Amino acid sequence: MNDLPSNELPIHGSALDEHLRSLPPVQVLDTDLDGTLVGSEGSLLSTVTGAPTARAAQGLVAARQAGVTVVPVSGRRHAQLAWDCRLLGLADFVAETGTVICRDGEVQRWWGDAPKELTGTPREALRETGALQALLDAFDGELRIYDPYDDGRIGEYLLIGQVDVRQANELLAGSGAPWANLIDNGASTGWPGRHARAYHLLPRGTGKARAVAEDLRLRGLSPGVAMACGDSMEDWTMAACVGTYVQVANGHGALGGNAFGVPGAMTEGFADAVDALLRAYLR
Ligand SMILES: [Mg+2]
Repeated sequence: MNDLPSNELPIHGSALDEHLRSLPPVQVLDTDLDGTLVGSEGSLLSTVTGAPTARAAQGLVAARQAGVTVVPVSGRRHAQLAWDCRLLGLADFVAETGTVICRDGEVQRWWGDAPKELTGTPREALRETGALQALLDAFDGELRIYDPYDDGRIGEYLLIGQVDVRQANELLAGSGAPWANLIDNGASTGWPGRHARAYHLLPRGTGKARAVAEDLRLRGLSPGVAMACGDSMEDWTMAACVGTYVQVANGHGALGGNAFGVPGAMTEGFADAVDALLRAYLR
């Protein structure tokens, strides 16, 4: 690790601190973006209410100064995330809910259980096997492609609406693409005039946890030196493949075991996680 950051760290004894002290120092921080590293309106520099804050940015810098590799693990499309990472000074990332992994500038598609021989990308396989259309037909008027945020993806589809996910997956299981999977990404304001949720349609055998596990394997690192941070249920699945999972205050997963909550929401929660990481580093 490099030189420690010079900013003062708050004294804060907690179960998270104790847990981190029982593990080797964190070397990789896998973080969700929306609702975690970035706050209101997707801003790195805003709190959950939109008030200005530099805490997440300071945390990001402090983690990097401590030699921690920060890897965004996001549902954002890969081309957009590449630009986001450039702005943040980060190199590697996991995009499109784990269906795209970028390491050392090389973009890899993760097919999971999708058949590779059919098409060029997992997204095309979802379309050409009829999985996408089967869902749109079954939930006509209740589900649609989430434009413009879906555009340009290669690993999955991003949808918006209000559907029964179990019913949707039963339908997919009986379709021509039983390997397709719909997951709930949480409430969304993207469909004016109605309550709506965002959904990822992607191959089974993919997802954030699988991608993080593979990223750690490629780095030759054990789960114990990795911390993940997030807010959604999909983020929470990363707890199974890292030493420590930190859920920001606006998060939804069950806590316990190696999953801990922090007081701050969104950007401030990310900063809380980095503070804990650095406190453990100073042990
Ligand atoms: Mg999120």
